[in-house]
Amino acid sequence: MKVFGVTGWKNNGKTGLMERLIAEVRARGFSVSTIKHAHHRFDLDQEGKDSFRHRAAGAKQVLLSSSKRWALMDELQGDNEPELAEHIARLDPVDLVLVEGFKAASHPKIEVHRGNAAREPLIALKDQTVLAVASDRPQELHVPVFDLDDTAAIADFILEYVGLVKSEKSTKAAPLKDDCFALPEGMYWTPVDEALAKLRDTLAPVVDIEVCGLEEALGKIVAADQRAIRSNPPAPNSAVDGYGIQNSGAAGPQSYQLLEGRSAAGAPFAGAVAAGQAVRVLTGAVLPAGVDSVVMQEDVVIEGGTLTFSGPLKMRANTRRAGEDVDAGGIILTKGTRICAPEIAILAATGAHELEVFKPLRVGVLSTGDELIAAGSEATPSQTYDANRPMLLSLAASWGHEAVDLGQAPDDPEAIEAALIAAATKVDVIFTSGGASGGDEDHVGTLLAAKGNLQTWRVAIKPGRPLAMAMWRGVPVFGLPGNPVAAFVCALVFARPSLGMLAGAGWQEPQSFMVPAGFSKKKKAGRREFLRARMTPEGEVEAFASEGSGRISGLSWANGLIDLSEDTTEITKGDLVCFLPFSSFGI
Ligand code: AMP
Ligand code: MG
Repeated sequence: MKVFGVTGWKNNGKTGLMERLIAEVRARGFSVSTIKHAHHRFDLDQEGKDSFRHRAAGAKQVLLSSSKRWALMDELQGDNEPELAEHIARLDPVDLVLVEGFKAASHPKIEVHRGNAAREPLIALKDQTVLAVASDRPQELHVPVFDLDDTAAIADFILEYVGLVKSEKSTKAAPLKDDCFALPEGMYWTPVDEALAKLRDTLAPVVDIEVCGLEEALGKIVAADQRAIRSNPPAPNSAVDGYGIQNSGAAGPQSYQLLEGRSAAGAPFAGAVAAGQAVRVLTGAVLPAGVDSVVMQEDVVIEGGTLTFSGPLKMRANTRRAGEDVDAGGIILTKGTRICAPEIAILAATGAHELEVFKPLRVGVLSTGDELIAAGSEATPSQTYDANRPMLLSLAASWGHEAVDLGQAPDDPEAIEAALIAAATKVDVIFTSGGASGGDEDHVGTLLAAKGNLQTWRVAIKPGRPLAMAMWRGVPVFGLPGNPVAAFVCALVFARPSLGMLAGAGWQEPQSFMVPAGFSKKKKAGRREFLRARMTPEGEVEAFASEGSGRISGLSWANGLIDLSEDTTEITKGDLVCFLPFSSFGI
């Protein structure tokens, strides 16, 4: 059920707002139930009244009935106060449950401020469950602040939040700025970490938000924090096959009268279980009224309608409380999470059938060079099979993006411009490879410098060439090196986290491991190096025999990269080196 709460200090106007909201929400055609938390005695609990006398005499439950309404009161008789989720599970289905109080529960809520309290906001910045404030005076907060008397606006907010009315908020992404790739003046060789920090700070989601059904959600990225629609489990239930009892907690042998009937998953027991009685319960079955603990079937003896076992049994043994996993309204997935099987499971378990996700990022890949020919065609010795395009398309697809093949362009400024103009209308980001390192035929760089806010990033990395970062007609362009080994390393190190930012998934750091080197090597200081590497069965990491960047076979020989820092100058066999398995890059 959809749940929203109203909290705030005593005498701040919670109940007044509840009253107005109940009327407003009903006037809009929705049914409402409420739950109210009381600290001490409450309305029905008036001394001297008949119901009070029944309970004072020791009745476990008292049901008051008249021709207008009925109310069931349950005496906890020393048990813990039930959680909010257990109360919600008791209500009949309704469009919206409004909860007054229960400040510490994790359901979404609006906090009421009135009078003096408005000068001292109550909400802790870290309490993520307070989503708005209703106040009798304006104030600047990190959440929306409504006028306490503007019931219509508060109702709009709540109904949109719980999804009873469609949100009119923008689902359009904001464009990136044209000069977003500019590096600080005067920097010639940029260290890898600084280049990465620049990308992380500059890039933002460029994809719009859409609503998708759970069945199409695999691989998509969550666009807004997702909260549980229903608690899991929704009601207290049994964790084992056994017998439900009211636990006396006593030690030693004890006997119970076994009732007829049972509670099975999906088929609850209709009656109630009194002290001294037991009823059959199966795993996942809702606990019958009166049952607080379950004794395992292996631990009981049943003879002639009497069940015996040897206590003590812990209070609530073998039971799961309502909301033990997740409370209704609690955050189950945060914005930016990529949805895989575990995320599908929690969404389904808590009642989601649709959610807001980012539209897939369309990644276009263009190869440039007169020498290139598509794989599989007849080729002369002077032609090179285009390896980058299929490689980069595969990387983009493995990272969950929509890979768009933009073909190849010759070393001709007009042809490259035509390809980029067409690309800007159908993709969100463009990868080019080749033609960007400043040679005679490097038309990609020349064109982007003239018309695309080119920023040439000289990053202190091997293998690599300068990266051409540009904004072409509002679309970011990553001009990767032509050399396939350099293009691959730059794609893993720079493009993967950048695509994560553009797609809404946030910045992704690859998980690294310190592993003993199975080799020795000398290295120039001042430059970060990534070696094609492979773990041996002995737990060492070895480097590919040739560091030549034309050796494409080394990529497939390897199952990861060794990451050598700028200040490393020598590795001796046995030294610990930083190893990044390809799986850390999502491939
Ligand atoms: P460039 O950056 O255009 O000077 O290219 C550098 C080297 O990479 C040259 O040897 C190119 O032939 C090679 N190269 C460029 N693009 C590709 C590609 N798509 N597939 C394979 N090799 C390429
Ligand atoms: Mg070229």
